Amino acid sequence: MILPIVAYGHPVLKKVAQPITADYPGLKQLIDNMWETMYNGNGVGLAAPQIGLDIRMFMVDSEQLMDDEEEESEGDSKFRLTKGIRRVFINPEILEETGEPWTYEEGCLSIPDVRVKISRHETLRIKYVDEQFQEHTETFSEMNARIIQHEYDHLQGILLTDHMTPLKRSLVKKKLDNIASGKVGVRYKMKFAQR
Ligand SMILES: [Zn+2]
Repeated sequence: MILPIVAYGHPVLKKVAQPITADYPGLKQLIDNMWETMYNGNGVGLAAPQIGLDIRMFMVDSEQLMDDEEEESEGDSKFRLTKGIRRVFINPEILEETGEPWTYEEGCLSIPDVRVKISRHETLRIKYVDEQFQEHTETFSEMNARIIQHEYDHLQGILLTDHMTPLKRSLVKKKLDNIASGKVGVRYKMKFAQR
């Protein structure tokens, strides 16, 4: 089932999400629904707050990106991905971030039509449990790390807009106000705070 994606301006996107236990009600169905919702929006990642739940869970599928390496490259914003991943991250904890910070222009399903250049470390080490609640500690780099950092931000109540310079913020203010009040044209279903 495709779930509505919570739009910028909704308070759930600003909350720090809480850990869950293996007996979280309807977890398997929720994960299936989140995958379906993410693919329907052409996303490469989706965090639970984006479908209205303040729980520490997100998923990433960067395998989809392996084909469009060419079109995303521009200037200092070089697309970097050697191998895609497909994973569900539950109760994740980023243990360390290392490597040269690099800049890339990110988008977010909750903030349609807004892209923000963000500098992030190239590599991270993360501890999490998967959908079977098996514990893993893994290292990810390049675009995989970036998507994880973006989704992890969601669990901390941090959005692309929090990474903006004051200039960028003033340039997109009208657009953000429109998104918050539901005046936005997207192909996928969204849920707005003020409508
Ligand atoms: Zn996002």
